[in-house]
Amino acid sequence: MQTQPAASHFINGQYVEDTGGEAFDVIYPATGEVIAKMHSATPDIINQALDAARAAQPAWAAMSGTERGRILRRAADMIRERNHDLSILETYDTGKPYQETSVADATSGADALEYFGGLAASLTGEHIALGDGNWVYTIREALGVCVGIGAWNYPTQIACWKGAPALACGNAMVFKPSETTPLSALKMAEILHEAGLPAGLYNVVQGLGDVGAALVVDPRVNKVSLTGSVPTGRKVYAAAAAGMKHVTMELGGKSPLVIFDDANLENAVSGAIMANFYSTGQVCSNGTRVFVQKGIKDAFLKRLSERLDNAVIGDPMDPDTSFGPMVSQRQIDIVDSYIAKGKAEGARLAYGGNRIDQPGFWIQPTVFADVTDDMAIAREEIFGPVMAVLDFEDEAEVMARANDTEFGLAAGVFTNDLTRAHRVAAGFEAGTCYINTYNDAPVEAPFGGVKASGVGRENSKAAIEHYSQVKSVFVRMDDMEAPF
Ligand code: NDP
Repeated sequence: MQTQPAASHFINGQYVEDTGGEAFDVIYPATGEVIAKMHSATPDIINQALDAARAAQPAWAAMSGTERGRILRRAADMIRERNHDLSILETYDTGKPYQETSVADATSGADALEYFGGLAASLTGEHIALGDGNWVYTIREALGVCVGIGAWNYPTQIACWKGAPALACGNAMVFKPSETTPLSALKMAEILHEAGLPAGLYNVVQGLGDVGAALVVDPRVNKVSLTGSVPTGRKVYAAAAAGMKHVTMELGGKSPLVIFDDANLENAVSGAIMANFYSTGQVCSNGTRVFVQKGIKDAFLKRLSERLDNAVIGDPMDPDTSFGPMVSQRQIDIVDSYIAKGKAEGARLAYGGNRIDQPGFWIQPTVFADVTDDMAIAREEIFGPVMAVLDFEDEAEVMARANDTEFGLAAGVFTNDLTRAHRVAAGFEAGTCYINTYNDAPVEAPFGGVKASGVGRENSKAAIEHYSQVKSVFVRMDDMEAPF
């Protein structure tokens, strides 16, 4: 497959290059090979993208929602038709196994375009009667130019989760992918324009954090939506606040997964696997603090090890492979340092823990048992395949410990006690909770965090609130009074 894109950026409906920008390589994480050479956006490229977005947006917002939606839904169909090739590209970009990318990446991007394409025509204001025949009506308006900044773990999905609601509401978008995974967003831009999106409405510019930072402070930008870590979120939120811009912050987490003695063991193990090892652990909502009630602990750890032995680690392009490499040298070094910390702090290494000696960024699925709340591996987001198993005795104790974190992205519980399940979900300080399941993220449901894990929601009708604003228009039908 041709992995080198026609150019680094996509602006005003076409590929654009500026070799004056800093050069960087795109690496296939499974082998360490260079698969594309790109350039960071120069100030001129950033200007071109923002000018194109500004110029195109008013006419797009003036179109009917039905017309806008039709284009988005057409793009969704095209993505589904090309799912195989897009999934291969996503695997090259991220290293995630084709077994995953073929069902979770382009497909979820298509779902977002279809869902928000369907909603576009239903976006309306309200009529509010004020008495004496007077009234106010509201108009739901686009915000203008939205900037999307993406993390590297779900590049296609993030490009669509931000682009689809933004475009449905009549905005233009300038998207900056992570410089680690710059390829897929360009394909999304290409497909959107092939589907009929007018030029200038979905632009992609490449670069490191400095390009993102320049976009965030630009006065032409009305909204910033970031998917990234909490430290980056703090910087971007503060910079956006100076310009009084709208924000959506989808940030990191250290989510709890609580498994009670009465849980179905096989399902609980499946939940813990999905909460820690899917995408080689590089999922923001992962339940990496696995609290296991003492009565089920030994059985849980035994069954977990047996199931982890079934992981197929190897060529990510092989449809049988179920566990791929980490995304980059930098990320595997971070994960390695946490494994060393876990050992040094006295946690018991129950599974894995070693790098796999081959080119690329390979590490085993890793489980620490006997982890305590104060250990770094129980407090800090690792963003890799490292599960921390902590013991607990009772519900009140585990709830206090589960919520004792600055994060609040997700939380899960496995139990067969119906009332306890709902009580625990109600008690979690998290934006997204799971009962007897983990890590589902369909477009129909709101997704996002509380506390330091974020602001705003992606997906569902809730996202519309974050990509549009309401104007109130007062109408007086009788005479107007004044004091003098
Ligand atoms: P980072 O926070 O390092 O980067 C996120 C994006 O922000 C990148 O495109 C980065 O550019 C850019 N960026 C960095 N600094 C700035 C700045 N000062 N101003 C503007 N943009 C900037 O996150 P990672 O890419 O390492 O992704 C992993 C993180 O993302 C984890 O914490 C994870 O939990 C979180 N995440 C959250 C999700 C959610 O929905 N809540 C989903 C997926 C991931 P570059 O990297 O190119 O320098």
